[in-house]
Amino acid sequence: MSNLIGRLRKVHNLDNELRRYRSYRDSRPAELQEKERECSDIDRQRVLVEEKKKDINLKIRHVEGQVRELEEKVDRFKGQQGQVKTNQEFHALKSEILGCEADISRLEDQTLELFESNELCDQEISGIEERLATKKAEMEVLRKEVEKDLLGIDQDIKEFESKREEATTLLEEHLLEDYENLLSGCGGTAMSEVADGFCQECSVQVIPNQLNLLSRGDTIVKCKLCGRILYLQD
Ligand SMILES: [Zn+2]
Repeated sequence: MSNLIGRLRKVHNLDNELRRYRSYRDSRPAELQEKERECSDIDRQRVLVEEKKKDINLKIRHVEGQVRELEEKVDRFKGQQGQVKTNQEFHALKSEILGCEADISRLEDQTLELFESNELCDQEISGIEERLATKKAEMEVLRKEVEKDLLGIDQDIKEFESKREEATTLLEEHLLEDYENLLSGCGGTAMSEVADGFCQECSVQVIPNQLNLLSRGDTIVKCKLCGRILYLQD
């Protein structure tokens, strides 16, 4: 690869490696963010169930208050029963008492149901906390793995960068500038292989005259569609 295209391809290959390594490096923190997002989702579920539990407890207190009021009423009616003078008044009070006792029994059933719902919330919360602890442990393992991995990748990237620096010194300044412009303008790939007469980046057919020039390896030939510097398949 001592000719012009060969020297360019060396830089091109290093750029491809750099792109691959950088993209891998950038994808790893995203994996970690995904795990963090999973943890916050689970935590949000816990908050929702805790709010539901708070509502249930408020209802329980409210119903218990109603029961207390009814019990006081019953006591009052029973006290009044001893003071009434007619049978009719006595029976009227008795009917009030029975009504209150029926309401108390209904409210006590309601309290029982609310206590059961409260217990279900506790079970749900403990399940969520268990899942959260597992997810957090997984996240810590991944965090350590990613930190270690990134350290290694950064080292590899530095090595590729210094190799690239060295490879670019073999290119003339205007050629390097042209290459760099293509690199930034063509989505990070400044060169394209020609296989079976076609540009492998944009699939356009390369004309025979261009193929002839390419086979010499010392002329810059650009794809007429995507503009990348072409090189022949090895
Ligand atoms: Zn092309």
